[in-house]
Formats: sequence, C-alpha cells, structure tokens
Amino acid sequence: MYKKIVLLLVLVMFVFCGCAKPQKEPVENTLNDITKRGNVIIGIKTDTYPFGFKDKNGKYAGYDVDLANMIGEKIFGEKGKVKFVPVTASDRMMKLFTEDVDMIVATMSVTPSRLQILDFSNPYYIAGQSLLVKKGSKIKGLRDLNGKKAIIVFGTSSESSLRAAVPNVSIIGYKTYAEAVKGLKQGKADAIVSDDTILIGLSLKDGSLVLLPKRYSREPYAVAFRKGQESEDLLRVVNDVIEEASRNGTLQKLQKNYGIKKY
Ligand code: GLU
Repeated sequence: MYKKIVLLLVLVMFVFCGCAKPQKEPVENTLNDITKRGNVIIGIKTDTYPFGFKDKNGKYAGYDVDLANMIGEKIFGEKGKVKFVPVTASDRMMKLFTEDVDMIVATMSVTPSRLQILDFSNPYYIAGQSLLVKKGSKIKGLRDLNGKKAIIVFGTSSESSLRAAVPNVSIIGYKTYAEAVKGLKQGKADAIVSDDTILIGLSLKDGSLVLLPKRYSREPYAVAFRKGQESEDLLRVVNDVIEEASRNGTLQKLQKNYGIKKY
C-alpha cells in the first residue's frame, strides 16, 4: 500500500511539474534548413520556353530560372547556390509536398483552390489563358470549342477554367507540352488551351501553329511553398527579391529580353 502511495505521489509531481507534457518542438523553418544545407533546391520547368527550359548546352535557362538564381543569391550572398530540380505541371505540387524541393518557380498561377494547400509569394508575372490551333483552323475562340475536343496539360489551371467556360468540350490531357503539341498536330483535338506565354513559345518553334489573340483568364505567376509557419521566413525573402527586382526594373528588362513583356 505504502509503495502504491509513493508511486501515485511521484506520478502527480511528474504531471504537475510539466515533465509529462511533450516538449514543444521548435517550429521547423525551411530557411534555416536551407542555410544549414548550403544550397536552395528549386523546382523548375524544362518544357516551358521561355520560362523554364534547357539551353543548347543543357543548362537551365529562362525567366523563372533567372528569378530562381536571384533568390539563391539573396539567401547566400553569392551565385551558384541553387540546385535545380526539373518539375512538370503535373508533378510540381507532389515534389513540394515530398520535400524534394524547397519551392517551385514554375509558371504556377495563384488560384483559390491552390491557396488552400500552398503558400504563394507575390506575383512576378501575369499571363492569360488562350488557344493554340493549327494554321487554317476554323476555331477562332473558346466558344467554337463547344462539341469539339481540346487539349490541356495535366495539373494546369486550364482544365477547370475550360470545363466551366465550355461545358460541352471533350478534354484530352497530356503530361507535357511536347506531347500536347504532338497530339494537336496529329489531329487528336482542335486546340490546346493554356497560358498565352507558354503557347507563344510553342508557336514560335512551329510555324504550322497559331496562337489566337484573345485572353480568357488572368494568371498571376508566383513562387509556391509548403503551407504554414515553416515557410514564413523563406516567403519573406522571396517577396523581397520580387519587390526589389520589380522596383529596379530587372524583371521588366528580363521580360523584354525573353519577348514576354506586355505593353
Ligand atoms: N499557369 C498555369 C498553371 O499554373 C499553366 C502553366 C503551366 O503549365 O504551368 O496551371
């Protein structure tokens, strides 16, 4: 009996002195992890000229890549600290959630549904959805797609906006833009629906394709992070980079050089 009372007392003391409470974990902070690790890992597209692509020497290049390099330089105060990981529209969120990357700079639009599961920086570019068709096509706008077939790339914002705007369209999905173009050229569908900036790149590479002039949405591109406190400091640094590059004209200059500046 005496033994039981002592045990009970010890237990009560243990609980009241707070020893039984789990120690509060320090908040995980991605920026700390990055500085400790010595590089920042950024998800980049390789099939989205002129935002993310590989140049003739096999090096990552494009508007998104330049922004990613500015972010690396801001964090470490020197160049060459960015590790690029290729992502596609369909796997970019997964690579963020599985911590393969610290952030994504990949022509990613801020949308209400994505805001529920991701954090975003301020926008660094504004695109708009449009249609890419074969030269001579009868499709002149979104409405002409009623009862027809249209191609989207999986994981992009085009699918939901297309479904909402043209209920009777049949949608065919591909994993990459290269496959989407192949599908269009083979006559699998009447148009590709995606961001104008991406479609311009595709039409410049292939004279048999035409980008239609009308825009059907507003696509603010922003850097995406895992949602929560762990990303707060990193997000602040990235917003500083975007704010500074916009204020001193760097972003505008890059847009002009890549032919994506809108007047
Ligand atoms: N900006 C659009 C999106 O975030 C499409 C561009 C892309 O292929 O990434 O879904």
